[in-house]
Amino acid sequence: MEATGLLKRLLELPGGDQLLRCIQCGTCTGSCPMAEAMDYGPRGLFALVKGGDIEEALHSNTFWFCASCYYCTVRCPREILITDQMYAFKRLAIEQGIKPKVSTLQMYTAFHETVKEDGRLSETKMMRKFLLGSPKDLIKNTSMASLGMKLLRRGRMELKGESVADPDKFRVMLSKARTISPEKDEITSMDSGGAA
Ligand code: SF4
Ligand code: SF4
Repeated sequence: MEATGLLKRLLELPGGDQLLRCIQCGTCTGSCPMAEAMDYGPRGLFALVKGGDIEEALHSNTFWFCASCYYCTVRCPREILITDQMYAFKRLAIEQGIKPKVSTLQMYTAFHETVKEDGRLSETKMMRKFLLGSPKDLIKNTSMASLGMKLLRRGRMELKGESVADPDKFRVMLSKARTISPEKDEITSMDSGGAA
């Protein structure tokens, strides 16, 4: 499909037209815990589309790496439902047969395990789990590894992860939540090509 057709389709998907309101303030990318691993942060993704390069946007890893944490959505001054927009990108990519460059399941699993262990997200720990759990992605993503080294050198990333005050209590709470709604813990049911 041509760029104009792709844009038309994106805009008609649920949440797909939200990016038109973006003022490029960068709050979303500054808030996003996954931004370091993304080819473009949410702001950059929207800039690509508004600049007419929807093909590049669709071939980026940005929306595949979105962990649906909603940080960006609650902070956007234009009240753009950015997380919904990420789903619209995923849906369009799937429709176009575009697959993620790295294992999305591996990324989700690393995110899930890190939060489960510490009660909060440590980007360093999550990326360590992700890359060690997926050596082929580590080889493919040498640029990501070198970015990680730069961030460490500049003190922008800590090797030691942080956790909530009492991780044991947090895990008890998670177990309780699972007994109430066991189907919500089905992270392993997400497939690498079609995470919704
Ligand atoms: S926070 Fe909202 S307005 Fe700002 S760049 Fe992100 S999407 Fe655009
Ligand atoms: S919802 Fe996705 S894009 Fe938004 S802050 Fe979370 S991971 Fe980043």
